[in-house]
Amino acid sequence: MGTTYNITIVGEKLLDPALINDALEDIEATMSTYRLDSELMQLNAAPVNTWVSVSPSLHEVLLISEEISILSSGAFDITVYPLVDLWGFGPTRRDNNGRPDSADIQARMENIGFQNLIISKDRKAVFKKKMISLDLSAVAKGYAVDVLASLLEANNISSYLVEIGGEISTKGHNAEGVLWHVAIEAPVRMAQSRTPLKIIELSGLGLASSGDYRKYIEVDDAYYSHTIDPRSGNPINHDLASVTVIAETTAIADALATAFNVMGLEKAMTIANNNNIPAYFILKKADGFVESFSADFAQFLHEN
Ligand code: ADP
Ligand code: MG
Repeated sequence: MGTTYNITIVGEKLLDPALINDALEDIEATMSTYRLDSELMQLNAAPVNTWVSVSPSLHEVLLISEEISILSSGAFDITVYPLVDLWGFGPTRRDNNGRPDSADIQARMENIGFQNLIISKDRKAVFKKKMISLDLSAVAKGYAVDVLASLLEANNISSYLVEIGGEISTKGHNAEGVLWHVAIEAPVRMAQSRTPLKIIELSGLGLASSGDYRKYIEVDDAYYSHTIDPRSGNPINHDLASVTVIAETTAIADALATAFNVMGLEKAMTIANNNNIPAYFILKKADGFVESFSADFAQFLHEN
């Protein structure tokens, strides 16, 4: 997944690190776009108009992705992969070092759209209506966090914090015996140090953030976000610097954070409030950051 992970366990029980490695290895072998032999890359290469069997974990992540695509009216869309690749955020970096041709963007838009993937509910199988290519990068880290959390629970560990690339799940209490505290950092590009902006209290839920301040490319003083709006074919470009979402699972939080980042503050806030989703937004303005959050987020803010 091209990132680091941290697991903190409170209590006497420990877990064999090999079990954790195996679980992560499994997810990469299933969902990575950086491995040509992953199950996902084989599905991307599979022919159209025929049912293809998928593993239970891939099936689960595809269903979560579809749910968030519907909720976000296509702002979140795992069929965005050809555009991700064109803009230089895939495994094959593009050779021209600037904005892709609009003709190239239009050509790739032909095969974009989550409606082109039919996911069977009763069978672990999917059907491609077009030659689509899927990218699970915006949800797989969160899903992996959930898998590790389940692994800890299956081993009777009831107080933990699991984090992969900034996506988090916590349960129980920290070493001081109180709820886990998670800091949302200030969204500063190339920051020398990480500055906490808000402290969140979290237990038994997933938390994920999406922002363009750490992963982006810079061309002639222009920044291109690695998050693409599948409806326009272009990287997102607005004043939303970071979105943090809390959800039942970290996979859902991860996908929703990316969806909200694509939608922009106004639409995302409406969806969050209409669906009781705790979400926290940081806007970048000329004179600094402006924060706002949905009604359900307030309960998680730690009183200083
Ligand atoms: P962030 O934490 O900034 O949301 P993620 O790692 O969760 O970043 O997701 C960004 C990655 O998701 C991109 O690198 C790309 O592979 C993929 N992606 C980009 N745009 C979209 C989109 N609109 N819907 C789903 N996945 C996307
Ligand atoms: Mg995400």
